[in-house]
Amino acid sequence: MVILGLGTNLGDREQTLRQAVLELKALLSQVICSPVYESPALLPETAPKDWDMPFLNMAVRGESTFTPKALLAEIQALERKLGREKRGHWSPREIDIDILACDGVIINEPTLTVPHQALLKRDFALIPLADIVPEWVYPGRDGKMAHELATQMASQLKRTDLVIA
Ligand code: ATP
Ligand code: CA
Ligand code: CA
Repeated sequence: MVILGLGTNLGDREQTLRQAVLELKALLSQVICSPVYESPALLPETAPKDWDMPFLNMAVRGESTFTPKALLAEIQALERKLGREKRGHWSPREIDIDILACDGVIINEPTLTVPHQALLKRDFALIPLADIVPEWVYPGRDGKMAHELATQMASQLKRTDLVIA
């Protein structure tokens, strides 16, 4: 099982998420989608004010036959297909697709960190993950399940009414 985190704060955000999920269904089987949340952009103090555009975020789980690295290449190709251009770090983007976790796998390589390095710090990643894989356990830690970690997290994440399945 792989769990992906999707985010978008540029263009028609809802349409982009729908298209991304459709395309992910061609890459993964047994796809399950979380609710959609809205969150403020995560920005350093020095970022231009016009980068401050809210994100829609969701998590998607599925079964994959790809290695994690091959999956990363596939989702990066999908980001480009959905219109993401190379802009600076933190800048608005049509779509961001991160690998949040792959079962109990731990990878620490220059191009790929699994679980995602910021998973436990970001409500917009951990909360939707916990919605669809509540019993997932962060590998190599204290055995707490995703739903426990998400409940403990201070968060004002806003759930939307959008349904993407
Ligand atoms: P953040 O990592 O803070 O969420 P970002 O998603 O904005 O940042 P990107 O510009 O989309 O960063 O990706 C930068 C690089 O992160 C990618 O080229 C990829 O090699 C690397 N990367 C490392 N771990 C992961 C992961 N788990 N999922 C996706 N990309 C990853
Ligand atoms: Ca990201
Ligand atoms: Ca990314």
